[in-house]
This record gives sequence, structure tokens and C-alpha cells, in this order.
Amino acid sequence: MTAANPQSCPVCGASAPNEVNYPGGNTRAGQSLQFTGIAICDTCELGFALPRPPQAALDRFYASGIYWTEVGRNLPQVMHEKAQCEQRVAACLPLIEKAQQLRVLDVGAGHGWTVDWVARMLPGRIARFDFIEPDDDAAKSISNKQPGFPLQRVHSMSDASDHYDLIFLNHVLEHVADPLAMIARITELLAPNGIAYIEMPHADYRFKSDVFPHTLFFTPASLAMLARKTGITQLACATFGRSPDEPGPAWRRRINWVLQRLFVLAARHGVWLVQRALDHAVWDYRPREPGIWLRWIIARPSRAN
Ligand SMILES: [Zn+2]
Repeated sequence: MTAANPQSCPVCGASAPNEVNYPGGNTRAGQSLQFTGIAICDTCELGFALPRPPQAALDRFYASGIYWTEVGRNLPQVMHEKAQCEQRVAACLPLIEKAQQLRVLDVGAGHGWTVDWVARMLPGRIARFDFIEPDDDAAKSISNKQPGFPLQRVHSMSDASDHYDLIFLNHVLEHVADPLAMIARITELLAPNGIAYIEMPHADYRFKSDVFPHTLFFTPASLAMLARKTGITQLACATFGRSPDEPGPAWRRRINWVLQRLFVLAARHGVWLVQRALDHAVWDYRPREPGIWLRWIIARPSRAN
């Protein structure tokens, strides 16, 4: 920890005098986006990358294509994404109104697994499925999924115009400049009884060696503050998931290593149920303290619990 910085917290506005290292922040020489540290808010626990970038600088960075090159794609990663999307859709099912035709928005659709799981778990219930995916090739392959499904690509949050019953925002909130503005926009887009499923890392600077280019680092306390500041209703907030690289006894790390190798093999050659079982054994999606991810489900203030 080092002494005072003058930055104020982008969620609660309090000063954030403590600063920690930004893992991976000093290895991006020559890139348009660089971070020197993470300020931690004393009041709500939010971490935010320093120097704070304006949204325009973030938009330029993501439009440059550098991020997609850095993230990389391989088959095991794609199958892990499929398993993650299944548990996201499943988490929403108990909160969805019965016998209702649903308008769905998926922000940051990736490989489009959410479309597949929504089609399977909510058969005959989808009136409209809009998705936002900046990568043209990924968007094209999503558009070809689920023939007969009312799929439509929307280019940005500001282009979305409907009111949605179900919005997915997976691993997006930790990349923005202004979380209050993002949640305000989500609230505008929700239908009166709609819900938004929002997932993000749980303060991942604590356990990852590289968190670039994350700008925000949330905890349950900072999400509760974000709910208060935006007036939305918080229906669920849980930390969940386990890192296969987490410190522990040697036998546990050896088992994790074997499970990960088996998962990679299954992802390349196996059937889905084997992939799914191994993926769950590696990542353990159940709520736990402190989990590596946060699941946050919110609704407009008018919605009754
Ligand atoms: Zn704060």
C-alpha cells in the first residue's frame, strides 16, 4: 500500500487513499491503454484502475482489435464458455415470470452459447433475442445458430431500443469507465418485470497475475453500493467458482492439474456430458467464499420480489 491518491471512487464518490499494484499493468509498453495501479475505495471496497481512462479511450482500444488478439481462442476455452453459459441461464430460470413470451438481450455474446441454452431451457418462450458482439466473425456465426429463432444483432447498448425481460451482461462491467452510467442504461432497457444477470470477476487483482485491461474490481459491498446509487433492486448477489490455480495442499493442486488435462482432452475429443462434468470439477460453480466470480441479478425498482 502506498499513500494518498486524489482519485474519487466511480461508484460512491468517496476518496480512495490506498493503492495496490495492477497485475500485468506494466507489461504493455507502446499500447494505447496502460495502468499504473489500482485504487481501493475505503467506503465501498471498489477497486479502480489508475489512471482512470475516459470511455472514449476504452472504445478506441477495443475497436483496435488488440484485445481480441490478446484473449485468444481455443477449443477448451470455447467449451468452458459453453458450460459457463449453461449455469448463467439456469440461475435466471427461478426468477423469470411463468408463461411469458420473453425479449432477451445478450451483451458481449462471444460464441453465442447463451442463445443455445436459452433455446433449450425456455423452449417456445422467446419472442425476440438481440445480441451485441463486436467481433464480426463471431456475430455472423451466432446469426446462423438456431434456425427459426428470432435473432438479431444490435451494434451497441445505445442502439438497443426495446424493453427486455432478460438481459445478460457477462464479463463486461469490469471493462467500463462509468459503472453508474452502464447500470442506468441497463435499467432503461429493462421491461417493468425484467431482470438482468450480470457476471464479473470477484476483485481478481487479488489472485490473478494479469488482469489487463480490467478497469473496475468489484466485491459484494461495492455492488450493494452500486445498487443503492442507481436505485435498482438487487435480487441476488453471490461469489462463486474456484480457481484451479488457487494455493492449497500439493495433493489438491495435483488433482486440479489432472482434471484440467482431462478437460482439455475431453474438449477436443469427448462428448458434452463428460466435458461438462470435468469443467464443473475444475471450476466448481457453486457459491463459495471467496469465489473467483460474482453473480449479480438486478431488477427495476418497481419489481416485487
Ligand atoms: Zn466507493
